[in-house]
Amino acid sequence: MADSSLKYERQREDMVRRQIEGRGISDPNVLSAFRKVPRHLFVSEALMDQAYGDYPLPIGEQQTISQPYIVAEMTQALQIGKGDRVLEIGTGSGYQAAILAEIAYRVYTVERIYSLYVTARKRFDKLHYHNIITRYSDGTLGWMDQSPFDAIMVTAGAPRVPATLVQQLAPGGRLVIPVGDRYSQDLVKVIRDEQGVRQASLGGCRFVKLVGEHGWDD
Ligand code: SAH
Repeated sequence: MADSSLKYERQREDMVRRQIEGRGISDPNVLSAFRKVPRHLFVSEALMDQAYGDYPLPIGEQQTISQPYIVAEMTQALQIGKGDRVLEIGTGSGYQAAILAEIAYRVYTVERIYSLYVTARKRFDKLHYHNIITRYSDGTLGWMDQSPFDAIMVTAGAPRVPATLVQQLAPGGRLVIPVGDRYSQDLVKVIRDEQGVRQASLGGCRFVKLVGEHGWDD
């Protein structure tokens, strides 16, 4: 359809107004990133018409692209500046990484399922996200060679905060991670500063499992 991009642009604006701004997300960088990233291009063709809905969607391999609001909430919580280097664990569809890449200097993203890693990598190339660096590996170990990071986001639910990730935070760095059991988690924000490491809870959430050495068993 010749004007389908216009259709999705309208749906996207509607999503930003109702689901993101309407629920209190106010960081201008986050809002403008949501207006730019074409979420419908991060799901399969069959699901494109649902891409701007107020819910998560399947992306294959029993994984999901998160609900738009939770992506916004986690992004805002990281307080990302233009010069920041950000690590994301759980590339999935690549949507969250693209949102981060609109705001940050560079995004490093790790995925443990090969097919998802390859699909996301192709998407980044096609959409010209040249500041996203991808890696196929266990993200619970972080990305030592590229550390420290100004911000780290984990987009899968962990049994506890992996110490490896806290260690890879720069001074002043922020980490956002869902922590809990397999069915429900608490969104936890960890801040590393001169006084040490502080932790705060941002509320309940529900994510797929973080599987790896410092996560759940397969
Ligand atoms: N941020 C994604 C959400 C994907 S769901 C998006 O915007 O679409 C969570 C993803 O985390 C899944 O793709 C899952 O395979 C991945 N994952 C789980 N454990 C992981 C680990 N230890 N390292 C890297 N990725 C992991």
